[in-house]
Amino acid sequence: MDNSKMCEICEEGVVVSECFLCKRRICANCVSQGICVICDETLCTNCRKQLSDRACNVCGSLVCEDCSVKINEEITCLNCNPKRRF
Ligand SMILES: [Zn+2]
Ligand SMILES: [Zn+2]
Ligand SMILES: [Zn+2]
Ligand SMILES: [Zn+2]
Repeated sequence: MDNSKMCEICEEGVVVSECFLCKRRICANCVSQGICVICDETLCTNCRKQLSDRACNVCGSLVCEDCSVKINEEITCLNCNPKRRF
């Protein structure tokens, strides 16, 4: 068996693509819209382009720095921040 062709997550499936965030080589079962299932769980729920590193204090959504506003240690996502209207 050539392990270099096996999925880096489940170690069972054959590699079909590479996660564009973490560069893991992944099988069809472990890919979700071009990213691996591990990154998918931690992806910003707003832009879905970057990994989230914080959660909104109001709705609990995982968001990235660009998609959140921090006021007095309170983090809110753009959806929950009433001061930001487009
Ligand atoms: Zn896999
Ligand atoms: Zn990944
Ligand atoms: Zn974001
Ligand atoms: Zn929110």
